[in-house]
Amino acid sequence: DIAALTEDLASTFRSAIERAGMHLHIHRGEISGDVYVDVDMWERIILNLVSNAFKYSRDGEIVVDIQQEGQLISVSVSDTGVGIPEDQLDKIFDRFYRVENSGGRSQEGTGIGLAMVKELVKLHHGTIRVESKPGEGSVFTIHMPVGKDHLMADRIELNNTSGPSLNHSTTFV
Ligand code: ATP
Ligand code: MG
Repeated sequence: DIAALTEDLASTFRSAIERAGMHLHIHRGEISGDVYVDVDMWERIILNLVSNAFKYSRDGEIVVDIQQEGQLISVSVSDTGVGIPEDQLDKIFDRFYRVENSGGRSQEGTGIGLAMVKELVKLHHGTIRVESKPGEGSVFTIHMPVGKDHLMADRIELNNTSGPSLNHSTTFV
């Protein structure tokens, strides 16, 4: 249950967020499709996004929203924090890239978080994008495919690239 899992993970930050005088809101839409994720990887994805939202905010709120949009599940993490300059929006997913003087709650970090999030999302055939306005806040949105057809496709691809000796009529279990 991706919605319950995401809510549980985001909620681990609730007391820290509220102690800082901020608010955490979690919205869960009606979700009928199953999403297959590696639970440890999903944990890293959500904890990184929510911790960034907290780290790069001084006040206001953090909203986690989980919705189904047809054959996709969208999970967005929004904050009312410092925001990211437009010319750096694509760079923040690069390893070790950090926005200078971003003015958040803490300046500590390695700049690895989002690079890892992007890789982990990609491994699940998902996408991640960011919208942000300096001084207003940021929204990170992940889209994950419903079902497991894409996972099957991976296994077929693997077989096809493993050389001619493989039996391509293998059944996948
Ligand atoms: P860590 O490796 O500990 O996560 P980090 O938070 O600096 O370190 P990333 O999570 O990869 O690294 O983020 C890269 C940079 O993107 C951050 O240094 C920050 O400048 C910017 N950033 C990320 N999330 C936000 C956000 N929600 N609001 C504003 N800036 C952000
Ligand atoms: Mg981070």
